[in-house]
Amino acid sequence: MSLGTNKQPIVTVSRRGADRIRTGHAWVYRSDVVEAKDVPPGALVTVQEEAAFRPKQLSDKSVRPMRARVLGSALYSTASEIAVRMISPRPVSDLEQLVRERIRVAVAYRERVVENTNAYRVIFSEGDFLPGLIVDRYNDLLSVQIVTQAMDSETLRAVIVSELREALNPAAMIERVDPRVRKLEQLAEKESGAIFGEKASTEFQMNGVRFVYEALGGQKTGAFLDQRENYAAAAQYARGEVLDVFCYQGGFGLHLAEKCSKVTGVDSSRPALELAERNAVLNSREIEWIEANAFDLLRDYADAGRQYDCVALDPPAFAKSRAALPKALRGYKELNLRALKMLRPGGILVTCSCSYHVSVADLLGTVTAAGVDSHRNLRLLENRGAANDHPNVLGIQETSYLKCLIVIVS
Ligand code: SAH
Repeated sequence: MSLGTNKQPIVTVSRRGADRIRTGHAWVYRSDVVEAKDVPPGALVTVQEEAAFRPKQLSDKSVRPMRARVLGSALYSTASEIAVRMISPRPVSDLEQLVRERIRVAVAYRERVVENTNAYRVIFSEGDFLPGLIVDRYNDLLSVQIVTQAMDSETLRAVIVSELREALNPAAMIERVDPRVRKLEQLAEKESGAIFGEKASTEFQMNGVRFVYEALGGQKTGAFLDQRENYAAAAQYARGEVLDVFCYQGGFGLHLAEKCSKVTGVDSSRPALELAERNAVLNSREIEWIEANAFDLLRDYADAGRQYDCVALDPPAFAKSRAALPKALRGYKELNLRALKMLRPGGILVTCSCSYHVSVADLLGTVTAAGVDSHRNLRLLENRGAANDHPNVLGIQETSYLKCLIVIVS
């Protein structure tokens, strides 16, 4: 590997940053960037490790000065704390070609691992070695999110659009913009809208359950596609009366409705519940939707002695940072404790956490403690993660974030 062959800018990283790359991670934080002189936003760069030490006897011709070690190619951000996102351990000269190939590989991977649905994540950023690009398919619509300077370039945008069009032939492609993320990445302001095509709403199915999807407009929707396989797993065990807590548009509840006698969904968001009801109608199901704060409702229901045969808990990420972990775990404990108190013997608890900072061991520990406090015996039926269209890259811990435990209570 030689440095001089292509004229790419060079980013020098510290030993700590280099070690991170050597363990299989893709990111180097700005604090581990030693030098990045005149590197433009979003540039394709060559990453090298800073020389470990300079021999004192540099004048001694018998001692060769250490040469910087090249670690590979990366995409650079001048704004993000994640300054470097590796894309290859080898030198990359044709970025457009690399992105084209990776999109094709990502599409082919889904053909192998995705079943029983026409809605799935087609590209999952680092999970598909395409950092900064997220693409979801909802039947004939594609929803695209671009969150880094590199992926936002005109040339890569054109590659992304043409390659996805060719591979999946969608009726329309819609870009979903999070203004906060664009601002943090110092990208020009932009609104969500169609990249091409007129169509902005459709219907999709997963595991035989139908859902409405509206990409734009008042009630923007989107599903938690990462839970798709967990819905099907939960449906294997559930029966009787179900409480779907943090139900959003009804993912768990709608899946459980086929086998269960009564389903109640709880969420604090009215627009989410309105969509949930539209989904229920689409599937000819009668589900009770309650707009409430889940913590209050669980406390009131548990105090009132209500009983269920299955409770699903799928709260939003409580721990947005490591510092927030202890408080988050108290929140999970409270929810699980109240849910366990309401479960009849033989009942099923489906309990999830999508906080990256909460490890599977943390969640298991919290649920175990809630079992002890509620004097229930818990047996673990399944210890699950995100669906396979959200690839979990070993070495990039952040790609493993969703936990879903299915527990039988006695
Ligand atoms: N189970 C859902 C996803 C849940 S996402 C699915 O499979 O599709 C988390 C949901 O929690 C969001 O819909 C959000 O509106 C809701 N939420 C957040 N805080 C809440 C609270 N305190 N009480 C009730 N719902 C809440």
